Amino acid sequence: MSLITFAKIAWAVGVVAWYVLRIPFQRKAKKQRVADARHRNAREMTLLSISTLGLGIIPAIYAATAFPAFASYAPSPVQVVAGVLVFACALWLFWRTHRQLGRYWSVTLEIKDKHQLITSGVYEKVRHPMYSAFFLWALAQAMLLPNFVAGPAGIVGFGILFFFRVGREEQMMREAFGHEYDAYAARTKRIIPGIY
Ligand code: SAH
Repeated sequence: MSLITFAKIAWAVGVVAWYVLRIPFQRKAKKQRVADARHRNAREMTLLSISTLGLGIIPAIYAATAFPAFASYAPSPVQVVAGVLVFACALWLFWRTHRQLGRYWSVTLEIKDKHQLITSGVYEKVRHPMYSAFFLWALAQAMLLPNFVAGPAGIVGFGILFFFRVGREEQMMREAFGHEYDAYAARTKRIIPGIY
């Protein structure tokens, strides 16, 4: 098997694992009554589509067809091994955040009935650890897919979702939890502990 084929398979396995991990939480989250779904709007759906394009559709087309061929290059083994490790870290963090958010998790922005603020575990270090996990996934994609378009597409796609969403999410949390969220935000960074 060539290094490129191995890297593409590793990427595909990671993406499938990501979705499989999420299935039980998706079921649980669906049963929750939503108290505030104001943010479940066209803007959010557009952002989710852009993210899916960058993390799913563009890399899947590249993995299946090698399109766009002009942007392909020969990968180094170090890059591929690092990509596998980063993807493994992303999956671990993703799973932890779902375990901790439990029934409060949602694909888009919403406040559930009797929603509580989670500030422990991985949420003690940063206030958006699930988004950290998505950025790690996107980084792994850039390392595993040796193509200047398909590789970085995840960073661009998820980056757009993140930067257009995070301020509104924090605003929503601030409205729901008031001083409790202000205090939490004051002692945590967004996605990289101690840095950002
Ligand atoms: N931004 C978070 C959560 C993403 S899931 C992260 O990256 O880990 C999005 C939903 O999680 C939001 O609709 C919000 O209601 C909920 N949420 C976000 N932070 C939370 C927290 N600290 N405690 C409880 N729920 C939270």
